[in-house]
Amino acid sequence: MTILEKEMIQQNEETFKLQDKVVIVTGGSRGIGATIVKELAKQGANVVINYNSSAEHAEALVEDIDRLGGKAIACKADVSNLEEAKQLVETTKNQFGRVDILINNAGITRDRTFRKLSEEEWHEVLNVNLNSVYHTTSAVINTMLEQKYGRIINISSIIGQAGGFGQTNYSTSKAGMIGFTKSLALETAKNGVTVNAICPGYIETEMSAAIPENILEQIVSKIPMKRLGKTSEIAEAVIFLASSDYITGQCINVNGGAYM
Ligand code: NDP
Repeated sequence: MTILEKEMIQQNEETFKLQDKVVIVTGGSRGIGATIVKELAKQGANVVINYNSSAEHAEALVEDIDRLGGKAIACKADVSNLEEAKQLVETTKNQFGRVDILINNAGITRDRTFRKLSEEEWHEVLNVNLNSVYHTTSAVINTMLEQKYGRIINISSIIGQAGGFGQTNYSTSKAGMIGFTKSLALETAKNGVTVNAICPGYIETEMSAAIPENILEQIVSKIPMKRLGKTSEIAEAVIFLASSDYITGQCINVNGGAYM
């Protein structure tokens, strides 16, 4: 084989960083999750797009990926429910035979100042954002440890680091994800399973579109880069962490300098 041929093979491997890897993206139907799904598929991965209520979005994404020659399925599961999360992992294994990468991305907000926050709003956010991480991770961890390969990437938030007005429930859930990430990383490192978190700043999605315009303007004025982040900028960090063998227990901030 000539040097040029070797380089071309190497380049091909580099072009498709996640060829044939099997990935679950929770909340992959919309927003940041949907962009992560597309980027994973571009990198050659087989993707399971989890959704709870946005079936149409998830199915449209499957069709898009199909058209581009990739492989994806949509799978309905409320990840705040342990049995449904287990079912999501079973469906993945039945369809693709294995599971290599788990992206815990599903999340909701129920913003209200603490005095007005109901018990239901507290538990709903903790269940969807944090307990879901326990549910999905506990369903994949034995497989990953046995195969001595796994990547778990938790989409936390700047709000879990800096706090947020009217966001005690959300902030607690996102800070919890960071502690979970570091502790699990310690336990799984020797078996080739890395666990990392990404802390997005304010990103252009439906979630941030729900913030009142005057408050959003104030937020943007305080971001050193003076703009919201793009979903593609979070997806880039996901691909980077998913492709790395030696980064674990880290929290990557993708926030335009808003929290350092
Ligand atoms: P969106 O509201 O745009 O999308 C949320 C996704 O989560 C949807 O796909 C939704 O699916 C899914 N989801 C919600 N509840 C459940 C559930 N019980 N089970 C399964 N899936 C569920 O949010 P973003 O894309 O903006 O946010 C994605 C992640 O990034 C979240 O964890 C969020 O906290 C985090 N983040 C976002 C920031 C931002 O500025 N947007 C900043 C920092 C962090 P469906 O529609 O089917 O219910």
